[in-house]
Amino acid sequence: MSLAASSLSSLRRQLTSGDITARDIVEDVIAQVYTRDSEIGAFISHNQESALAAAEKADLSLPLGGLPIGIKDNINVLGDPCTCGSKFLKNAYTAPYDATAITKLKASGAIPFGRTNLDEFAMGSSTENSGIQLTQNPAAPGHIPGGSSGGSAAAVAGNLIPATLGSDTGGSIRQPASHCGVVGLKPSYGRVSRYGLVAFGSSLDQIGPLTRTVEDSALLLNALAGHDPRDSTSLNEPVPDYTEGLDKGVAGMKLGLPKEYFTDGICPKVRERVESAAKKLESQGAEIVEISLPHTDYAVATYYIIAPAEASSNLSRFDGVRYGNRTENPEDMLALYKDSREAGFGSEVKRRIILGTYVLSSGYYDAYYLRAQKVRTLIRQDFQKAFEQVDAIITPVAPEAAPKMGAAAGDPLKQFLADIFTISANLVGNCGISVPLEPADGLPVGLQILGPHLGEQTILRCARAVEAG
Ligand code: GLN
Repeated sequence: MSLAASSLSSLRRQLTSGDITARDIVEDVIAQVYTRDSEIGAFISHNQESALAAAEKADLSLPLGGLPIGIKDNINVLGDPCTCGSKFLKNAYTAPYDATAITKLKASGAIPFGRTNLDEFAMGSSTENSGIQLTQNPAAPGHIPGGSSGGSAAAVAGNLIPATLGSDTGGSIRQPASHCGVVGLKPSYGRVSRYGLVAFGSSLDQIGPLTRTVEDSALLLNALAGHDPRDSTSLNEPVPDYTEGLDKGVAGMKLGLPKEYFTDGICPKVRERVESAAKKLESQGAEIVEISLPHTDYAVATYYIIAPAEASSNLSRFDGVRYGNRTENPEDMLALYKDSREAGFGSEVKRRIILGTYVLSSGYYDAYYLRAQKVRTLIRQDFQKAFEQVDAIITPVAPEAAPKMGAAAGDPLKQFLADIFTISANLVGNCGISVPLEPADGLPVGLQILGPHLGEQTILRCARAVEAG
């Protein structure tokens, strides 16, 4: 097996025993990317010189010493371009600082390597909204890798690099992980600093890892989690060692199956996989109970008011003045803004800005935005009640396995509806993980395990039980 195809934990063992060097790993990652990424399209850019230089100086006594990690191209890495998958920022922006997640990775000894593709500004579920390139699903050629962290998932699934970072506003780590057959963790809101992540929906966004194994996910969370005074929503709570107790199993755990998630809209094969995973967990000693999340039907509408509202405000900084390619010879100042934004943003981003501006506008604010915030509270209460009853909730990640490339083109509503199982965790701020199950008809299928706020240890332990079978 190539080094780039290994898990972080096995590379760590080989590094500390002296069998390999950090340079061997980075060189293999570079070789894999050069020989095979032209077919996959996972990486937008890479910084091989600085990665090799970091490998030379790697401190192997640190928890992630010498391990390369791919970074979604909406997270700032000092000196790297950061396109957010948008032609608006292509060749127009180089990060002048490290996001806190990157500072923390570096402090743990990891080597940020390359920038992975995404739906433009993380808006989408297929990575087809990238203004830069398309990404193939290495586990299912001809199919989408999911999104918006499709490049991050494909880079791991395609054995180009051991692990990557993604961001999850409504499912963008968990859903591509499920479609590509890798592990994807969205931490609880406030667990990982958002400083230096280009904001989409600030009350929903979290950075998290995409990895080959659950143990690697825990290893990366150890490095990423923690308080950051630069992000006022970051939590000042102690960070446990997430690798501890991973193998304790699920005996005695109470796991909920929400009845609203198993309706007619879900593909029978996906449903079958999730139900048989539940049975397996039951045979390992977990108690499976049916629960109810009564406001599930309103989650998509609520998310698609709140996320675009926040996005329309966050994206106002991209106007061709400070950020983004500027239109040439505008007639006046207003034309400079308008023409730069018209030329720079793709159609999905424009749709979100228009939607968001509308729901925030005077006369409509109460009817849409304010009401959505009230429904968000009801959804939060659903989960609070559920977690009084159970330790974790198990659900599908998406109603179907990865669709074919182009299948959802021109049907944004269909794409929005497919986010039904992932968006609630963001609306309520809880954690969630996608862990691979047996593929269905050759296509990867993930199991979503949702935990209460700061319940990462529980869902990691449960995911490890699924992984171990
Ligand atoms: N698919 C969702 C959207 O388009 C979620 C995206 C995300 O989590 N970044 O908004």
